[in-house]
Amino acid sequence: DVVLVWLRQDLRLHDQPAFLAAAEDGCAVVPVYVLDDDTPGDWRIGGAQRWWLHHSLAALAKDLEALGSRLVIRRGPAAAEIAKLAKELGAKRVHAIRHYEPWWIAAEQELASAIDLVLHDGNQLAPPETVRSGSGEAFKIFSPFWRALEAKMPPEKPKPAPGRLTAPDKWPPSTPIAALSLLPTKPDWSGGFAEEWAPGEAGAADRLKAFQDAVGSYDDRRNLPSDEGTSRLSPHLHWGEVSPATVWHAVARKKNSEGFKRELGWRDFTSAVEQANPEIGDQNARAAFDKLKWRTGKAADSDFRKWTKGQTGYPIVDAGMRQLWTSGWMHNRARMITASFLIKHLLIDWRRGERWFWDTLVDADYGNNSVNWQWVAGTGHDANMFSRIMAPLTQSAKFEAAEYIRRWVPELASLDDEVIHDPEAAGVTVKGYPAKLIGHREGRERALAAGRAIRG
Ligand code: FAD
Repeated sequence: DVVLVWLRQDLRLHDQPAFLAAAEDGCAVVPVYVLDDDTPGDWRIGGAQRWWLHHSLAALAKDLEALGSRLVIRRGPAAAEIAKLAKELGAKRVHAIRHYEPWWIAAEQELASAIDLVLHDGNQLAPPETVRSGSGEAFKIFSPFWRALEAKMPPEKPKPAPGRLTAPDKWPPSTPIAALSLLPTKPDWSGGFAEEWAPGEAGAADRLKAFQDAVGSYDDRRNLPSDEGTSRLSPHLHWGEVSPATVWHAVARKKNSEGFKRELGWRDFTSAVEQANPEIGDQNARAAFDKLKWRTGKAADSDFRKWTKGQTGYPIVDAGMRQLWTSGWMHNRARMITASFLIKHLLIDWRRGERWFWDTLVDADYGNNSVNWQWVAGTGHDANMFSRIMAPLTQSAKFEAAEYIRRWVPELASLDDEVIHDPEAAGVTVKGYPAKLIGHREGRERALAAGRAIRG
């Protein structure tokens, strides 16, 4: 007999309940990944993620070979491909970890009508449907969600990798990873990615190990973009190269790890939001914002392009956007500032920024990205008020971003700390660095007026 393990954003062997259950079935186990650009529609995997996926699949394939197994790769609509493969092999069952993106929920339902599909929890600290209010409803606000989640902690201790996986008599055909064409070619923009990241389970374990000793200073350092004070586990967590339970237990006994655990809880929160509100990536959670008059047309398009390129004339915004383009990741404080700048100062629909992040982040995650964009925009249920407008230049000074700016906006590297956050205000012009797209006060007033118009 044969069972399949259907892999998606759970590319690991440790604490991977689908593998453990498959091994316990006592049959041959066929692990399969399907590159599915059909089912997610507009939300198909973005460019930066494809680079990550290529390397993560290669790492997993190697780890599986060390267990006497293989990674079978297919391409197409996942539910149909898995059903087809199951039929080819006469498989009696499919094991998979449950995911909450709306397209994965749809694919799971489709597959379950064709074969025995066993879904396992394992990519959240707790299954979202178990973290509910007293009246059994999904939480819309993080703080009460967190209180309910924290009460369920700790999660179960992480389980080891399966000792061995029985191979089938004959392996089914598999698409070579290179044939998926996941890597960029013309141009190859991934040089900065390879410098920063080691996709795969071993890379995730190394990051976690390095962070374990730093977790105690997380609260003091996490808001400083110049400092490498956060874990940088986000792409590894997105791809499921490490389980959140493993991360939790790695830091649980360390001093001052509460703040970090709470941030990890945000990830669970966004899973709960996307489960309760699958349209979160496309629609304002507060419908009143459907009437907001975002800027459109040529001038807005030009501003948007300058924002994507890090050419806004606001050093902190430009540093963030260039870090994103070069390394596929951006510091959380800079994500908030750059997103706020696009939405408020440029008055451009948050969904355009969200899509840009989707294509350029190695950690692009439907729940995390959408919920955070809606938080910044003020359109979400748990959100800043639209009228609270972040002042990027004040933020830059307050969170000591000078070194960060020097690193990512080299044309400003020679400026002093006092000048670098806002060279224009200090009367300093730097050759090759653009003037501000719009003044802070002017941008603020325009956003406030747009906000008032929908309330009126
Ligand atoms: P740490 O601070 O070390 O946190 C540990 C883990 O907790 C993270 O890896 C992440 O999984 C989780 N986490 C932390 N903060 C948040 C948060 N606010 N929301 C959800 N989970 C969180 N995160 C993504 O993983 N994918 C995205 O696509 C994404 N898009 C974002 C878009 C915007 C506009 C903003 C403001 C934030 C976004 N975030 C996203 C959240 C956050 O910025 C990143 O998770 C974080 O910067 C990743 O760095 P880290 O791993 O060092 O985080």
